[in-house]
Amino acid sequence: MHSVNHGPKLERLVRLEDSKSGLSGYIAIHSTAYGPAAGGCRFKHYETDAEAEADAARLAEGMSYKNVMAGLPLGGGKAVIRLPDRPFDRDQLFRAFGQAVERLGGEYITAEDFGTSMDDMASVAKATRHVAGLPVKDGKPGGDPSHWTALGVKVAMEQAAQVRFGKPLSELTVAVQGLGHVGFELCRLLHQAGAKLIIAEPRAELAARAAVEFDAQVSNCRNLLTAKADIFAPCALGGVLTRDAALHMRAKLVCGAANNQLASSEVGTLLAGRGILYAPDYVVNAGGIINVAAEYLGHSSAEVKHRVEATGERLMEVLNFADRASIPTNRAADTLARDAITAARLAQTDKAPANTVQPALAIPA
Ligand code: NAD
Repeated sequence: MHSVNHGPKLERLVRLEDSKSGLSGYIAIHSTAYGPAAGGCRFKHYETDAEAEADAARLAEGMSYKNVMAGLPLGGGKAVIRLPDRPFDRDQLFRAFGQAVERLGGEYITAEDFGTSMDDMASVAKATRHVAGLPVKDGKPGGDPSHWTALGVKVAMEQAAQVRFGKPLSELTVAVQGLGHVGFELCRLLHQAGAKLIIAEPRAELAARAAVEFDAQVSNCRNLLTAKADIFAPCALGGVLTRDAALHMRAKLVCGAANNQLASSEVGTLLAGRGILYAPDYVVNAGGIINVAAEYLGHSSAEVKHRVEATGERLMEVLNFADRASIPTNRAADTLARDAITAARLAQTDKAPANTVQPALAIPA
């Protein structure tokens, strides 16, 4: 394993290479200005090293933004591991990854992401303590964070619905795309809040369950964007807000859990131009990382709840800033996040401890 500098965007890029276990990939550290770089470990097929490196860098930057906007004492990082094209021992591979994390001495904290599981993190934990997403112990934060992500999205949606429609969720219809870990739980919370639901999910058994449990109307996956709903909640794939989607969507508010919803930042401008309020994804879907952070930092479940329930307030700061600056909400969030990271970096350069600068949207723990 060796480390190389990667230009101005990343603080550090670590190449992962261990021929014995088949480990190959990168750890990208975008920022440690607010604390150790935290972000999950993605395990999937990449055609080339360059593709894996670019993904790690992009995702690490995204984690810096998400963490700072959640008011967490964490920077942003991400690991990507290439799925080996020959048979491999999963435990051995993730142990080797854990050794690489350990060598960074706490500069990077890992957790689950696409393609990795709690079992994989248990393998990582054999080699390092700088890992979260492990099974819950004694009622403390840990385990699958999806219900916290769903709660954060729901409280953000409540606030945004007041801004956009001046109405509570009980008077609105929400189109939920994807009923996986987060989407299904979000439907439960929205149903409890009295919202009407239209759902789309390729796994027919999940859609059928939601139809019965939440009195939801089932839509074809292709038609959901044009369904007669007030709110669109993407909880499946990234990149779902394309130019075309923005031009044809019927909903006037977008608020959901999926990461990287906007196919490009120009789509944010297009949505704003059509009077569609976009609740920036990384501001509203931070419940998962708040839980992961609490697990690592030793915070209680009550603190997690408090921070997740404040998601609506943090979103309001972004929406108010967008309004004052007359810019689309995605640009408002990016600007606030970048400014906070730059301020913390400057404070570091001045030799002041970074934690003397509060995140722009910090909330009390
Ligand atoms: P998941 O894999 O459990 O669920 C995704 C669901 O979407 C699946 O049921 C899948 O069948 C469905 N789906 C796929 N294509 C679809 C389509 N075209 N239309 C409708 N449904 C479709 O994932 P998850 O953990 O629920 O996460 C959902 C999204 O939220 C992802 O983008 C994830 O990155 C993001 N996210 C999740 C968390 C978390 O805590 N799990 C935290 C932050 C962000």
